[in-house]
Amino acid sequence: MSDQNEVDVVVVGAGFSGLYLLHLLRKNGFSTRVFERGDDVGGTWYWNRYPGARCDVESMQYSYSFDEDLQQEWHWPEKYSSQPEILAYIQHVAERFDLRKDITFGASVTAARFDETANRWTIETDSGESVSAQFFIMATGCISTANMPDIPGVDGFTGNIYHTGNWPHEKVDFTGQKVGVVGTGSSAIQAIPVIAAEADHLTVFQRTPHWTVPARNVPMTDEYEAGWKDSYAEKRANMRGSMSGSLRAVAPIDVSALDVTEGEREEAYRERWAAGGMTLLRSYNDLLTSDAANETAASWVRRRIAATVEDPDTAELLAPKTYPLGTKRLCLDTDYYETYNRDNVDLVDIASAPIDRITATGLETGGRDFTFDSIVFATGFDAMTGTLVRVDIQGRGALTLKDKWHAGPRTYLGLMTEAFPNLFTITGPGSPSVKSNMLTSIEQHAEFVTDTLTHLREHNIATIEPEQQAEDGWTDHVQEVANMTLFPKANSWYMGANIPGKPRLFMPYIGGVGAYREKCDAVAAAGYEGFRLECEENAAAAE
Ligand code: NAP
Repeated sequence: MSDQNEVDVVVVGAGFSGLYLLHLLRKNGFSTRVFERGDDVGGTWYWNRYPGARCDVESMQYSYSFDEDLQQEWHWPEKYSSQPEILAYIQHVAERFDLRKDITFGASVTAARFDETANRWTIETDSGESVSAQFFIMATGCISTANMPDIPGVDGFTGNIYHTGNWPHEKVDFTGQKVGVVGTGSSAIQAIPVIAAEADHLTVFQRTPHWTVPARNVPMTDEYEAGWKDSYAEKRANMRGSMSGSLRAVAPIDVSALDVTEGEREEAYRERWAAGGMTLLRSYNDLLTSDAANETAASWVRRRIAATVEDPDTAELLAPKTYPLGTKRLCLDTDYYETYNRDNVDLVDIASAPIDRITATGLETGGRDFTFDSIVFATGFDAMTGTLVRVDIQGRGALTLKDKWHAGPRTYLGLMTEAFPNLFTITGPGSPSVKSNMLTSIEQHAEFVTDTLTHLREHNIATIEPEQQAEDGWTDHVQEVANMTLFPKANSWYMGANIPGKPRLFMPYIGGVGAYREKCDAVAAAGYEGFRLECEENAAAAE
């Protein structure tokens, strides 16, 4: 298949979503080619090899559910898996289902044009290939285009520069080095304790402190593993119907944080802090909708920071104050705050004085000069839309996706966008995606898309495309739901706020994974309500 230039489907990306799509599409008789810019499978877990990289969703849940033998046979050695473990799992899946033979590695898709006469996409790669396909699926992940800040002087630095999202394959050894880390998001919070333990000295440059809670990662026990495997089917079903696509270790309390006593709150927060993981955010039902409720948890976490970090000035700098708890992605850490008690770690506030320039030997900020052997940029990604609009995708009337989304992404269900027939976005903007367990959402989208293609084939339908009204309604709905919460109060990458000039609006759908799935199922059951389906003759007649 990997040299065929006419296929039913082209998929871009060989991470979790591209691989599952390939498996499903092939099983359902669709000839499929996958293009992947990396040299092997893995997506996010192929690129993000920085020290300490680990998943914040428990492995028993951050794994495929589609194959019972696979989920029973695979053993995860830790509760939260490290990047090498997850990559090994993805590689195993590629082997097990013989997926690599239909994947072209080291090939970036650069352009795709929809031919309105033939009702087909022509997809081009940077290696000069041109492939024609009826369906074109972007399975490119939500955080796959690294954000390298535009700071003058980067090219003149004589030491090593790294970005966490594009980390070398060989081990980077910081022993004996002076290292600077720019950024304090999820990637930095995982990398900082590990780099600090190895380097001679580490300086962290912080623009905004992030909220982080302990992960409490532990080795997998037989009992815990069996607890999942003995009732996997039931647990996976519960995950699919849940709010976030995953099950919490400690159950949420379905009352307002303001309707209980301070003592009860204290106990609830302490229990969840001790259990570790994201569960703290769901302690009460209004932590993400009420400022006052949120502040009860936020001030409790600030007290934990003050109790952990020995230097009061550093503790003060590390305590977030400008946005509610959890409205930027909550981070999970292992000994993050404790790391600032080490003699070889300093924190520098760059909120008031940004980095002026990278020099030959380090960087300058606020009139201070720093010397480094290595600088690590943990500065995040042009998330959700960045990877999609960087490909020159042209739909009807040569409209580009970049132009269509100039004021922000517009989709129906986060799956398709009007004027781009037969183009699907897996975990696209407007779907639960990054506000859910990605594996649950990836499986749902891959299955929905495969079922849709099968339906079209059975009914001799050439194209599917959202109706304008359905797309407008869904795009408004995504914003309405977000505006009922505190999320828009943070300058987060969910809002596009981390990229200069990017439109500000909340991109993922936070109405809940279960509710979203029901909506998709209802749309399909009603004959793909809100989509325009055209047979070959009608599509041609509409020209
Ligand atoms: P991020 O959350 O966007 O954090 C980027 C950091 O860099 C922020 O502290 C940001 O400051 C800072 N920054 C950006 N541009 C800067 C500039 N020009 N000057 C100074 N500082 C700058 O990126 P990330 O940590 O890579 O994480 C992205 C997402 O990937 C996460 O939210 C998560 O969804 C996912 N992720 C998951 C895991 C996991 O599962 N364990 C691990 C890593 C990443 P501001 O806050 O001021 O913008």
